[in-house]
Amino acid sequence: MDCKKCNLEFSTKGAKELHMRVFHPNERKMIVERQLIGRKFERIVGNIEDCFYAFREKNISLVAFGQIKDWINDHTKNGISSPRLANFLRRRPQFKLAKKFRKIGTNQTESYWCLNDGNNPDTDANCRGQGWVEVSVEA
Ligand SMILES: [Zn+2]
Repeated sequence: MDCKKCNLEFSTKGAKELHMRVFHPNERKMIVERQLIGRKFERIVGNIEDCFYAFREKNISLVAFGQIKDWINDHTKNGISSPRLANFLRRRPQFKLAKKFRKIGTNQTESYWCLNDGNNPDTDANCRGQGWVEVSVEA
């Protein structure tokens, strides 16, 4: 229980909070903001998980990136942008990139994601039809 800025020790949490409030009001504000951002992130990650569970109920365990984005946009107030969704999918261990396809003759790709919870989906499922070729997901 110490203030790393001043190298002061406090015997109680209340004393430290008072010190932080008086001497480092901006620090305190930052901590609160960080907690709010953290909670917001958790909510978005929960939305993405819900999406996978909704598809799983329809016996679909590999979900295309575009389908995830559509689902989030249909089921949440603010929706999500593609770069943000890609970030969450890539960085959270509960999500796994399962398959990736490229449209022949183009740079257009579509990735398929699944929940990384041990329920291995049928990764041999042919998600994309003619005109698409599977590319390796090992980066
Ligand atoms: Zn201090």
